[in-house]
Formats: sequence, structure tokens, C-alpha cells
Amino acid sequence: MFNKILIANRGEIALRIICACKELGIQTVAIYSEADRHALHVRFADEAVCIGPATSSESYLNIPSVISAAEITNVDAIHPGYGFLAENAHFAEVCESCGIKFIGPRSALIRLMGDKAAARAAMAEAGLPMLPGTGKLSHDPAVITMEAENIGYPVIVKAVGGGGGRGMKIVRDPAMLVNAVHLARTEANKAFHNPEVYLEKYLESPRHIEFQVLADEHGNVVHLGERECSIQRRHQKLIEEAPSTLLSAEMRQHVGTLVCQAMTRVGYTSCGTVEFLFESPERFYFMEMNTRIQVEHPVTELITRIDLLKEQILIAAGEPLPMRQDDVLWDGWSMECRINAEDPVKFTPSPGKISTFHTPGGPGVRVDSAAHTECVISPYYDSLIAKLITNGRDRRETLGRMRRALEMFVVEGVKTTLPLHRRILQDEDFIQGRLNTHFLDHYFQDSGKAAS
Ligand code: ADP
Repeated sequence: MFNKILIANRGEIALRIICACKELGIQTVAIYSEADRHALHVRFADEAVCIGPATSSESYLNIPSVISAAEITNVDAIHPGYGFLAENAHFAEVCESCGIKFIGPRSALIRLMGDKAAARAAMAEAGLPMLPGTGKLSHDPAVITMEAENIGYPVIVKAVGGGGGRGMKIVRDPAMLVNAVHLARTEANKAFHNPEVYLEKYLESPRHIEFQVLADEHGNVVHLGERECSIQRRHQKLIEEAPSTLLSAEMRQHVGTLVCQAMTRVGYTSCGTVEFLFESPERFYFMEMNTRIQVEHPVTELITRIDLLKEQILIAAGEPLPMRQDDVLWDGWSMECRINAEDPVKFTPSPGKISTFHTPGGPGVRVDSAAHTECVISPYYDSLIAKLITNGRDRRETLGRMRRALEMFVVEGVKTTLPLHRRILQDEDFIQGRLNTHFLDHYFQDSGKAAS
């Protein structure tokens, strides 16, 4: 078992990892940038090392600094959280070569899944259904045009190195194709230092539903069911819930079994998420795999009572999974609202000092946050300030709890997405579970406020 883990992250996920380590009796080392000197993850870790200035590239993304901090504090393992270095195969490789356990899958699998075109090919081979699409796209306009025609319009141009919903272009008109590919390449190169793109059939109003898996280093794989993540803005998730109103128990078992078989085929270990687009309850297609713990993991934890962070750490320590598929039971419903320091209409960041921060409590309410009164929301990092998660016997009770928890959540000093969540929770389609990835577009149009 590990004695000491370095947490290569900040914010709520760094605190969440500290919780898991404390419960497992593992010492923790926080790293922090100069902007995070007073952050809670620094206060609650057993040791803390300043690794550089506020800019992420000089601190949380600076591999030599992170590795030096790990070496001087003599840790056994590094937990990367999500974002930053969590899906950086090179970082995982450096950890492996320094004899420090990277808490995640092997670097080869991070690399495979990080190349979305290669991941599509591998997962198709491993038996998952695919949307019509291409591998890495040619630079020849004639070939690009032919590929799109083979798929059939509309198509979506996606970045091979993509993430965070960036670098995607929807093309409905063949005349716009070559230019869209060019724009997507430029954006992808800027965002991911990788200009490669691929094409995929574009679905007009799918649901984004993902499956959580746990796989140990002894060949055991289980799935923990699905999360519904269709409430998105700019292709980024805003509200997640588990289970999905779309899936029957039979479909959950069917897709879950396919996912577990695919994980076995590629030799996956650690926790991971396989994302799908669902066109109907029976028609679904692999989209991508995330090889890290996800922001929305708590909704799965609340209905399975499985602590995903602890399991992820135990897997990395070489422990066999303590459960088999039949032991995984789902009880009740859960939902998460991401509270971002953002303008709720324009979705532009709203950094600054929080003057009042009051979190709701009571039955079935969990708040994962590293914010507090008088804390400064830095413009340097992600705008997520809290995850408000509720659960209950069923969806109705969970929604009722979310509604009252949103009312009792007070954040003053910065703008937040709280007002938007309060409105979504009153929406009849949302209440009825009629969701798709364009829910928010319609929502803004219906309420007379154009989405920007
Ligand atoms: P990223 O890694 O950037 O998050 P994803 O591949 O996970 O990109 O896609 C993010 C979102 O973009 C999806 O949840 C969905 O809303 C939309 N999307 C991606 N591919 C398609 C597609 N083929 N058809 C329709 N929507 C899509």
C-alpha cells in the first residue's frame, strides 16, 4: 500500500483526493502555485510544496517541477486528478521511469485514448458500435470531400487531440467543408498543439450518456452504470445525473457488458469512462474514452455507494477489486449541478473575490468545493467553484432536493451559473427527463434570450 501520495492538482478535486487518502490512512503532499498559497488543498494536505508562478504552464503543468516536488517529498505515487496532467501520456511515462506510480492507466493506454481517431479504431475492434467516420483526415480537398460524402451530411470535424468541447465544427453544406476543416485544424493546433482532425457523422439531437468502469491489475473489470450528461453548454457538461431516464435495466446491462468486454480487450486498468452518443434507447455509438476520474464521478458514487477515488487508489496500489459485477447495485437517483464563476448567460469567466459563500446542507445534499468566503477565484484556472450534488429515493425526490439546495446556495462577489441552474430545474422538459445535447439552445430561444 502507498505511504504517501502527491496530488498534482488544485481546487475541489485536490480536496476530494485528500479525503480519500485520509480515509485510507495515506499521507498527502499538495503542490501549489504562488496564486494558491492560501488554498484549502494546501491547508489540508500533510505537506505542501510551492512549484511556481500562477500560470499553469509554469506550475501545475510543469512536469520537471511536479516530479522534483515528488522526489523531495519521497512519495510513492502521484494522483493527477482531472485536467492539467491527468491525460498526459508523457507525464505518466516520466512517472513510470522515475519509479513513482501514476494513479491511472498505463501511459500506452492514455496515449491510445488521447488520440481520438486511434481510440475509435481500437474500440471498434474491441466490439463497440461506431458512428460512420474517418481516421486522421487527409490534406487533399478531393479526398476530404469524398470522405464526407461517404459519411453523409451533416458531418462534424473533430480534433484528434480534442477535449473540453473545443475544435469541433459542424458542416451541413458541402461547400463549407474544406474551409471548416482548415479552421478546425488551426483551432486544434492552437488548443492541443496537434492539427490532426477527423470526420464523424453528426447527430442532430443525441443524448450524451457515459459508462463508468473500474478495472484492476488482475483482469477484473466492472461497470458502475451510466451517467446522463446531455445538459451542456458549448459541448461542455453543466448538469449530470445517474441513472439516465433513457435506459432500461436491460440496456444498462447490455451496454455495460459490451464496455467491460472492450476494456478487457484493450487491457485497461484504473477507473475510466466510456462516452457514447445515444440516438434512441437502442441506438448508441462510442464517442471517446476518458482515462481519468471525471468531474461528475459523485453521481455514480451516490447511487452505488462505491467510493471511486478510494477504488482508483487501491487499484493503483495493486489491490484486486473488492466487488464483482453482481455486487454492484444501484439505489435511488442522483444529480450534479456544476457551479461555475461565470456569467450565466454569456458563459464568460467571472473571477474575483467571493464576499459570501454559504453552502446548503440537509438530507441528500453533498457539496464538493474548495471555495469559501473571502477566497479569490483566480482568472488563471478553471471556473468551477463548486459541485452541488443531491440524491434521493427517486428522480422526483432528487430534483426537489436540488431545487431547495440551489435556493439555499449563496455566492456573492462573483457571478455564477446558479441562476441558470435554478431556471433549468423548473423547466417542464427537464422535469420530465426529455433531454438532449441541445437542451440549452432551445431553452435560451424559448425564454427569449438568445444563446451567445
Ligand atoms: P470533447 O473531448 O472535446 O469533450 P467529445 O467527443 O466528448 O469532445 O464531444 C463533446 C460533445 O460534443 C458531445 O457531448 C456532444 O454534445 C457533441 N458531439 C460530439 N460528437 C458529436 C456527433 N458526432 N454528433 C453530435 N454531437 C456530437
